Amino acid sequence: METNFSNMYDIIILGSGPAGLTAGIYSIRAGYKTLIISGTRWGGQLMLTTLVENYPGFTEGIQGPDLMMNMRKQTERLGCELLNTEFTQGDFSSKPFKITAGGKVYETKSVIIATGADSIWLNVPGELQLRGRGVSTCAVCDAFFFRGKETVIVGGGDSAMEEALVLAKVAKSVTIIHRRDAFRASKAMQDRVFKEPKIKVMWNKSVTKYLGTEHVTGVFLKDTKTGEESEFKTDGVFIAIGHKPNTEKFKGIELDEKGYVVRKEVQDEGGLLKYRSATSVPGVFVGGDVHDYRYRQAITAAAFGCIAALDADKWLQENK
Ligand code: NAP
Repeated sequence: METNFSNMYDIIILGSGPAGLTAGIYSIRAGYKTLIISGTRWGGQLMLTTLVENYPGFTEGIQGPDLMMNMRKQTERLGCELLNTEFTQGDFSSKPFKITAGGKVYETKSVIIATGADSIWLNVPGELQLRGRGVSTCAVCDAFFFRGKETVIVGGGDSAMEEALVLAKVAKSVTIIHRRDAFRASKAMQDRVFKEPKIKVMWNKSVTKYLGTEHVTGVFLKDTKTGEESEFKTDGVFIAIGHKPNTEKFKGIELDEKGYVVRKEVQDEGGLLKYRSATSVPGVFVGGDVHDYRYRQAITAAAFGCIAALDADKWLQENK
């Protein structure tokens, strides 16, 4: 395999969602030779989104792909290189770090991991066509469009509880559809859900199909105990069955039990916070949904990308 020795970078950023592109903006403006390995499906989850109304700076909101295109153009205008290739491996066992992409090995003094996490979908008929047409994976992003409407949440974990509580603030009704007869979510979250009069639960049901063409109008259900089939009318379906962090190609980076990168805070000798975005490998930093299962917003991912770039800057200055 060809090794790109001439291309020794200061910072290589893996991923091109809001975290990766923001990290790129900060890295290049700090004067570092920076490469973003964007992947062939560049732009992350916002490329699958329609109107984004909660990203500051856009009075009328902005379409997700347009927001990402703006971020990309801004990053490139500042001089950041973007490689539209999938990286196939990250080897962090020795320095300089080696990143393999498109059949070449790129060397770098530091790395920012911003590969994101993908929502897990049900993958049942109608889902692909109705995404953004009443089918969503983010209540915080889309609840606003369901003011006074009947809605459904699929899932039984903490995310499903949280999404249900967010939706209940605006929707007429929220029905949680869960495949078993007990939630996996923490007791505290369940208690909050059970106290909310707008939220009802349908136990032992799985969604087998979406109904509607231009916009979702309902779901087709199967009882997981009896096999009985039924239809349930709704104006919106929120899928909250988990996320899959994109971490399978890393070697030597500590991951938690769900596969997210473990983010570490490092203090200096005086006990002051030195790095907020460190990983188990010095010189490798992390930003965005690949470590964050809690907030998962475009704006928080961008902020985490900024933090990772500022940390990489500090690390490079101290490890010349
Ligand atoms: P999760 O805990 O893995 O729960 C996923 C839920 O979706 C489970 O109830 C599961 O059902 C259900 N599910 C999975 N695949 C399904 C399918 N194909 N069809 C129907 N249902 C399906 O995921 P999560 O809720 O996203 O949470 C991920 C992590 O983030 C957890 O550690 C959670 O505690 C944490 N989190 C914390 C907070 C908070 O602290 N406020 C908020 C959000 C998330 P089964 O139960 O039957 O397996």
